[in-house]
Amino acid sequence: MADLAEGKYIWKNGEMIPWAEATTHILTHALHYGTAVFEGVRCYRTENGSAIFRLVEHLERLERSGSFVMMDIPYSVSELIDATVELIKANELRSCYVRPIAYRGYGSMGVNPRPAPVDVAIAAWPWDAYLGEDALEQGMNAGISSWRQRSVNSTPGAVKSSASYLNSGLAHMEALDHGYGEAILLGESGMVAEGSGENIFIVRRGALKTPPLADGVLEGITRDSIIQLARHFGLEVSETSLARTDLYGADEVFFTGTAAEVTPIASIDNRTIGNGKRGPITEKLQTAFFDVVAGKIAEFGSWLYEI
Ligand code: PMP
Repeated sequence: MADLAEGKYIWKNGEMIPWAEATTHILTHALHYGTAVFEGVRCYRTENGSAIFRLVEHLERLERSGSFVMMDIPYSVSELIDATVELIKANELRSCYVRPIAYRGYGSMGVNPRPAPVDVAIAAWPWDAYLGEDALEQGMNAGISSWRQRSVNSTPGAVKSSASYLNSGLAHMEALDHGYGEAILLGESGMVAEGSGENIFIVRRGALKTPPLADGVLEGITRDSIIQLARHFGLEVSETSLARTDLYGADEVFFTGTAAEVTPIASIDNRTIGNGKRGPITEKLQTAFFDVVAGKIAEFGSWLYEI
């Protein structure tokens, strides 16, 4: 595998199986028709051992994604919590990324997903800063994609489905080919939606703005965490549609996501944002975010599921 550190076990359908045996048949329905829903969760090292960040909210979003695509996930949130904890322990991981996935498996082909069984698996592996350690401090260069965000009435961004990530992959590849670190997608209406795997925020005159869910973005759990942290600091936050020029003219812009965490954006389409560095409000929220996940802010302790 190119860049994936192999672990010992994968949890699948109620059992812990060896990593190398976690394979699936070529006629797995999801492989052909994109019929999988998944999550990305992080487990962090804290002073009291390891803790999973907002695990319940992630698993509830998984169930919600499943219900939007009429897929009944045959495990409850509490069963999936236990499975996740067991998996991290079995792999002896301290900090890691966790990927629960529910997918239409083997046994039926054709567009109708219903006859295909639902399989559920969870994998975990170490994953460093997704957009680069450097980007967390220095900010990154992003570009507006020529690919539009998936439409709310075709492959809705609110559903975290594998089908959605064809769109993300196209935008991300294009961004890399143009020399940017990440893509920003505009939605159907032409307003800003999100990054290929992140929500986006701007700061202007001390206030935060982020596109509303109705603009077709994923209901990011990091997005919600940043909204709550910003309000905790007395900052004004609104969910407002943003035009491309709102990005260019912002004092600060940053991405949020489980993988990307809080990553400042230094330039967009080669236009410098603010002073071209991580801005003071971004830094304040980023520091608070990393303190919360490390268990250093008691007030947000309920966001951590200790293992
Ligand atoms: N938008 C997209 C398209 C994503 O893939 C992600 C990552 N899950 C996000 C936003 C951020 O969501 P979260 O903070 O819950 O990881």
